[in-house]
Amino acid sequence: MKTFIFERSELDRLVEILKRRDYKVIGPIVRDSAIIYDELTNINDLPIGWTDEQTNGMYRLKNRDDAAVFGWTVGPQSWKKFLFPPIQKIFATHKSPKGLDLQNSKKQTSQESAQTKYAFFGVRPCDLNAISIQDKVFLGGPFIDPVYERKRTGNFIVTVNCGQAGGTCFCASMGTGPKAGTGFDLSLTEVLNDKHHYFIVEVGTELGSDVLKSIKCIKATDENLTTVNEICSKTVKQMGRLLDTSNLKSILYQNSEHPRWERTAARCLTCANCTMVCPTCFCATIEDVTDLAGKQADRMRKWDSCFTLDFSYIHGGSVRASAKARYRQWMTHKLASWVDQFGTFGCVGCGRCITWCPVGIDITEEARAIRENQS
Ligand code: SF4
Ligand code: SF4
Repeated sequence: MKTFIFERSELDRLVEILKRRDYKVIGPIVRDSAIIYDELTNINDLPIGWTDEQTNGMYRLKNRDDAAVFGWTVGPQSWKKFLFPPIQKIFATHKSPKGLDLQNSKKQTSQESAQTKYAFFGVRPCDLNAISIQDKVFLGGPFIDPVYERKRTGNFIVTVNCGQAGGTCFCASMGTGPKAGTGFDLSLTEVLNDKHHYFIVEVGTELGSDVLKSIKCIKATDENLTTVNEICSKTVKQMGRLLDTSNLKSILYQNSEHPRWERTAARCLTCANCTMVCPTCFCATIEDVTDLAGKQADRMRKWDSCFTLDFSYIHGGSVRASAKARYRQWMTHKLASWVDQFGTFGCVGCGRCITWCPVGIDITEEARAIRENQS
């Protein structure tokens, strides 16, 4: 893989070049006391000098004592909100004197996507893996999701290797970080010391190489490559959580009646936060909405969650009526049946479900409790 270095000042240029190539550049910004993802107008939108503190049920932004651009980990949002939007119109019907006009949203979304080519700027390695998992879900089977396909087509991805671990991360256990492997156009590592602030950049695609031609950069040395490995190794050592994945699928399948499910259910509020923040969760429901005059009806796809009672409601009852059944379904899907469905775990170890669970339930702790006391 070709590797170069460029100065911090060139980062502005990278964003500018992507904009000039007609990408809508989406990146991290500070809003509502959190780091979220939205369109970057310029480089100053990035969370320069910010970091985050996270633990079970707690997230807080803090000022750093340096000007690191990527000195934080992940916030409540992920890139799935752009590729698999929380609310999406599937089709609309309009009543006219001639009858019902069906306005197929295929036309609408293809018009949208003709205008919108996303560049995702600042994707963490765990989230890059989450995108590849959702690719399998939406594009990998016999039924392709047309909305996801249009929004995913032509993405330019700039990943950033993690120079520090978040309080709830465990990507090293899942093999998804803290260094990006494949699937990016460019992958950055930020280096900031007393004397020098620069980026080491690995080129993943021809397109990435072409974009980089407009940036002032020089070929990386072996020392630079060692620096990347040292930064990522330090991040692994900082990671406070581990998830032992050996034989995990069988352990969960064999322990569906473990008393731990009941104990966790007594704490779980079934609020669905964990599924909303999870970058791989993909459940949705369909809702039909009409106007009061009865002239317009829209069919909408909206994010749903296996934690809601309605999600498994069929023929007059909910299949998973208890919190125990719903928590068990979620965790067993993530760490066991997902492997049977898609060939990987449904978890990339981003830690969001731990941080944003109002009662601080920790998927790594739950898996450990069942492993250590198997029935
Ligand atoms: S595990 Fe936590 S976030 Fe998930 S539904 Fe239960 S209380 Fe909500
Ligand atoms: S299950 Fe939790 S840690 Fe795993 S990917 Fe989803 S939000 Fe991240």
